Amino acid sequence: MGRYFGTNGIREVVGATLTAPFVAEMVGAIARVHEGPGPAVVGTDGRTSSPALGRIASGVLSLAGRDVVELGVLPTPAIQYNVPRLRGRLGVILTASHNPPEFNGIKGIASDGLEFPPEVEAAVEAAYERHDAPGVPYDRVGRIQGDPRGGDRYLEGIRGQVDVEAIQRRRFRVVLDCGNGASVVTSPHLLGSLGTRYVTLNGTLDGMFPGHLSEPTEANLADLVSTVPAIRAELGVAHDGDADRAVFVDEKGRYVPGEKILALLAREAVREAGKGTVVTPVTSSDAVREVVESAGGKVLYTRVGSPVVARAMQAHAAVFGGEENGGLIFPRHQLARDGAMTLARVLEVLAREGVPLSQLIDALPSYTLVKRKVPCPVALRQPVLEELTSAMDRGDPGVEVSTLDGIKVISRSGWYLVRPSGTEPLYRVFAEARDRATAESLAEDAIAKLEAVIRRLSDRTA
Ligand code: MG
Repeated sequence: MGRYFGTNGIREVVGATLTAPFVAEMVGAIARVHEGPGPAVVGTDGRTSSPALGRIASGVLSLAGRDVVELGVLPTPAIQYNVPRLRGRLGVILTASHNPPEFNGIKGIASDGLEFPPEVEAAVEAAYERHDAPGVPYDRVGRIQGDPRGGDRYLEGIRGQVDVEAIQRRRFRVVLDCGNGASVVTSPHLLGSLGTRYVTLNGTLDGMFPGHLSEPTEANLADLVSTVPAIRAELGVAHDGDADRAVFVDEKGRYVPGEKILALLAREAVREAGKGTVVTPVTSSDAVREVVESAGGKVLYTRVGSPVVARAMQAHAAVFGGEENGGLIFPRHQLARDGAMTLARVLEVLAREGVPLSQLIDALPSYTLVKRKVPCPVALRQPVLEELTSAMDRGDPGVEVSTLDGIKVISRSGWYLVRPSGTEPLYRVFAEARDRATAESLAEDAIAKLEAVIRRLSDRTA
């Protein structure tokens, strides 16, 4: 992992590490490694600093000699969708996804709409460290133009992927929680055009996130969970801050864990194709493998991070891919996580199956995936992992250890995985078993081991 780019781009605290000079130099470095024809496409999420950061990015790219198409505020997948369609040489997105409000960030998009591959990120970081931003004379400065059609173009693309008439006929009643994020500008229009009767929660753009924090966890979605059954809606849906993810609430008001929707839509994709590869990180539920294999497909595991999943899907011509956090990728649409596409697809499956969402979810293999966070200083994330890995080497014959990403320990009762976050000062702990008590105890066991190592290394460096 590079010095600046994490699992999903650069994310820093506004006014502390994310300053105007930092953004200008980093976008300048991005311009340096993207010579060749085609405009730069710039878009932002709805954070308080996003308009300023977007203008800095456009200005720097223009002064580097590149024409700029400004899309304004749009979900990350909408901006990605537009890059190849505008024949962009690259895209720059100013967003911090689901992070707390004090963050913002920079995401680089390649000409094919996928996130920068690791070697491009490394080249950008090297150019940044050399202070190597290009500058052109006055007669070669790029033009900056706005494009108000970016959102519509994206939604047309999504509607082209689903049976719109079948969805419209059902006149679904939906509660949509935009979490005051970028989906405000697209998902209500999508739901309207799909003939749903919808109610919006937190439906204004507001970088203070007055409704709830922008990570769509069960704890943050209490209003959505209570509203869905209260108005007898068939579905609740929430997006994270940049709407590359969607999570759901069933008609009974139950929060549907992301891995369930992942398993459901992975199975549908394999069924439709008759076979095929599904790509998912090592953090995914065994339910995904179970349903994919029984539908005649196979699962390819990767490291965590949607850019890694997207590139592996491209390399293996996968029929579907995604993560347990509600970030799902539909390759016929685009190789990027897409919250609105996920919503349209869930509505299509509901329309076709003609049963409530709860019934589709309850019919999936039953596993409980427990997710926890353990704070860990950034400087200790890597040393802690090394220490944990060497402690694992003592080996128990009934246990399989995978170090594809973090450490995954698989035993007969279930598995747990600990891995350092790529974007935040913490470790993520996942544990899965057939029942909640076992999953919780696997998680507790992993957390105890992890915290002991963090404590020991903190004492040593103190
Ligand atoms: Mg996101």
